[in-house]
Order: sequence, then C-alpha cells, then structure tokens
Amino acid sequence: MQKKLYALFLVDQHLRGIRARLDSATRRHKAQQARLEQYQQQQTELNQQHRTAQVNAQSLEHQARDMQTRVDQFRQQMNNVRSNKEYSALLVEVNTLKIEKGKIEEQALEKLEQVDRFAQQVKEIAERIAEQTKLVDLAAKEVTQAQAEIGQDLEKLTAQRQEAAAQLSPELLESYERAAETHEEAAMAEVIEDDRRHLDYSCGGCYMSIPVELLNSLLRNPSKAILCPNCSRILYLVDALKESFSSNSTSA
Ligand SMILES: [Zn+2]
Repeated sequence: MQKKLYALFLVDQHLRGIRARLDSATRRHKAQQARLEQYQQQQTELNQQHRTAQVNAQSLEHQARDMQTRVDQFRQQMNNVRSNKEYSALLVEVNTLKIEKGKIEEQALEKLEQVDRFAQQVKEIAERIAEQTKLVDLAAKEVTQAQAEIGQDLEKLTAQRQEAAAQLSPELLESYERAAETHEEAAMAEVIEDDRRHLDYSCGGCYMSIPVELLNSLLRNPSKAILCPNCSRILYLVDALKESFSSNSTSA
C-alpha cells in the first residue's frame, strides 16, 4: 500500500515539475495584470482630479468676471453722483472689490496651473497604461504557449494520477490529499538514515529525528499512512533502507 502511495506521490512530483513553467508564466501574467489595474485606478483618480480642478478654475474665473461687472457698474454710478460723500463711499466699494478680484484672479491662475499639471499626469498615465497593456498581452501569450507545450504531458499524467489514486483506499487517499494540501511542495518525505548503528533516523522533509518505534510501525503497517510527528508529511522508506532497517533491528 505504501508503494502505491509512493507511486501516486511520484506522479504528483512529475506533474508539479511540468506545471512549474505554466505556474510561473501564470504568476507573471497575474502580476502584470495587477500592475495594469493599479495604473487604471490611478487614471480614474487623476481624471477626476483634473475635471474637478477645471471646474474650480472656471468658477473662479466666473467670479472674477462678475466682480469686474460690479466694478464697472460702480464706476458708472460714480459718474452720476452729486455729493463727495457718495462718491468716496463708492470709491471705497470699488477699491475693496478690486482687491478681492485680484485675489480671486490669483487663485484662478493657481488652479489653472494645477489643471495643466493634472493634464500632464493624465497624459503620462495613459502612456504607461499603453505600455503595460503590451506587457500584459505578452505575458498572456506566454501562458498560452506554456499551456500548449505541456498540454499532452498533462493529460497523460492526469490519467496516470487517477489510476494511481484509484489503487488506494479512501482513507489513505484522504491522508495523502491532506498532507499534499499542507505541504504544497511534497506530501511525502523519505526517511533518512543518519546513523545505522545508533538507529538514528530523520524526516527528509523537515530533518527532525524520527523515533525508531515509528519506523517499526511503518514497516508493520504498510496499509497505513504514518506521519512525521513534526511536519505531518507521510513517511516512506526506500527499499534499500527497508532492508537495512529490517536486518539491523532483527540483529539488534
Ligand atoms: Zn518531518
């Protein structure tokens, strides 16, 4: 049974190998896509800021024009006044308005400069988006290419995997799938012999030592999944080690 488990493990290792290229291409594509979306988000914000600044600038220019109209109206009135007092009162109004108008014009100018800056940024982000779109397309092409290249192997191995999985009891398959989920890179780990004489063994996945009783149980229960107590990978023994361990433990 552990042999059958190991057979599934080998198919999975092989599958992982051929998927690696596709996976890295897919990761690159996702990263480029994410960057594109980030730029698009920036573009939306910049467009909004640009429009808001334009509206503000227009409103300020409008205010300044209104003030000029009022100044002109006061000037007309000044031509028709009869007293000095009335005249100087209007003059004060005119001067105050002119100062205010000057301030508004200054603000309008600042706003217009801001509009220009935003316009430049809008242009830059559009260029960046065009470039990034090309990179995304290129990355997508690489994904398609990798898919085409591994397609046949993938089909064959997927069928092999189904066959290997069908050989296992549901419980054993479940233990395996659980370990595979936890240890994406490898569900199983080889038992390593560190020192034959002292019966020192360790897990090839996490390198922590394994009690010898666990090895006995591994040999005696070939239909069970024996997990490393430290990392929970399913342990397996290569044939050579199996023999050496059997002879060693019987002679000891
Ligand atoms: Zn381990």
